[in-house]
Amino acid sequence: MYAIMLLRLFAGPTGLFLLGIVAWGFFAIILPSHFAGSAVLSQVAESLSGIAMPAGAVISLAALTWAGMQTHVLWQWHRGEGDFCWRCSGVLAQRHGRYGAYLKCIACGATKKGMR
Ligand SMILES: [Zn+2]
Repeated sequence: MYAIMLLRLFAGPTGLFLLGIVAWGFFAIILPSHFAGSAVLSQVAESLSGIAMPAGAVISLAALTWAGMQTHVLWQWHRGEGDFCWRCSGVLAQRHGRYGAYLKCIACGATKKGMR
């Protein structure tokens, strides 16, 4: 149960970090080499290549910030602070659905209407 909770907590930040790396690789390496034959397209690819590094850095920084926030949630859970799941004592996450706000357990997936 703990491994599933860790996986669900850090899947989003890890995916965003990998997306930043893939986007940087695509715009900085693959696109310029693919359009090297055309003079106009190589200029476009060259300008996109210049944007790729700062954009990749911003995406990676956002992913690291998100991972830091998830680490804080996990740290509070270890210290016994905050709300816990009524079934398995896992970490609760605030969600907004069709019928309003609700709490969802990250470990077992149980849901409960309401807010923190
Ligand atoms: Zn639970």
